[in-house]
Amino acid sequence: MTVDLRSDTMTRPTAGMLDAMRQAVVGDDVWEEDPTVKTLEHTLAARFGKEAGLFCPTGTMANQVALKTLTQPGQELLCDYTTHIYQYESGAYALLSGLSTKVLHGDRGRLSAEQIRPAINADDIHKARTSVVCLENTCNKGGGSVYRLPGVLAIRQVCREHGMALYLDGARLFNALALSGESAEDWGRAVDMLCIGLSKGLGCPAGTVLLGSRAHIQQARRWRKVFGGGMRQVGYLAAAGLYALEHHVDRLAEDHRKARELANVVQQRPWCRDLLPVETNIVLFHLDPAYDPDAFILALESGGVQTIGMGGDLIRLVTHLDIDDQGLQLALDVLRRIP
Ligand SMILES: *Cc1c(COP(=O)(O)O)cnc(C)c1O
Repeated sequence: MTVDLRSDTMTRPTAGMLDAMRQAVVGDDVWEEDPTVKTLEHTLAARFGKEAGLFCPTGTMANQVALKTLTQPGQELLCDYTTHIYQYESGAYALLSGLSTKVLHGDRGRLSAEQIRPAINADDIHKARTSVVCLENTCNKGGGSVYRLPGVLAIRQVCREHGMALYLDGARLFNALALSGESAEDWGRAVDMLCIGLSKGLGCPAGTVLLGSRAHIQQARRWRKVFGGGMRQVGYLAAAGLYALEHHVDRLAEDHRKARELANVVQQRPWCRDLLPVETNIVLFHLDPAYDPDAFILALESGGVQTIGMGGDLIRLVTHLDIDDQGLQLALDVLRRIP
């Protein structure tokens, strides 16, 4: 038996999800004739207080379509240096939208209004116009850290004062809401556009839904086509999303409990130098300099536990739908055994 703690993208669709997919009523979604896609888009838009939604094949495409919709070439985007948009999307903001970036160092990935305000370029012909702020909730490289709404409302105020758009990468937004108990609708209303990932904690094979005003989504639909993301009978994937909204949201707290149990063991071990606070389903820690990260990961793997290095001495463990209590116990045993 192996336990895969590398990522919450590793989940396979459950029998219930596959049944829901098989039974989906589908049509050509490029022609806007797929009823299941429309239902998913409307359901998520309503839940987050937005006018419209757009099903995208990946979170990366949703992010890039949003940036393309909210900015003009030559402008600047502002984000924390750990964000997925900056770290893990091959510089697509520059390639596809012609944006430059200014990265800030927030608190475990989280920015504040006080940090953003002085980073905005003055209205000066020498400077790129800072036109969008990108947030991520939860913050992956912040160890699954969670923003609270009041801080984001303060950021929104700064954005309004400077005519900047506010975008939220919500690949794990449902994990954040499960922890904070804040309302989805309040979060949706706090930002101009946001995306909701379906293929992480929610356990779908693929899909991210972009949300925004009717006008923004209409423009985004065009950019999605330009980027090659218009798909045909994609209601089969949307059906997985609808199934996940019904069956896989309330259980996220269980993933968070399992992550805390892993963290409780990790922090007592000699090889753990610095464990980031565990708020959701991600356990991130620095390995003691006496240990080699590659050798450490291999040692865990030979015990049947798969983990991933996040650069340097950072090691990540992620809990998800496919980690049951038996898997958790195996992982805890192996972590206790590694000297
Ligand atoms: C995984 C992830 C994405 C990208 O999603 P894909 O579907 O893999 O393209 C974007 N942002 C964050 C924070 C992620 O964790």
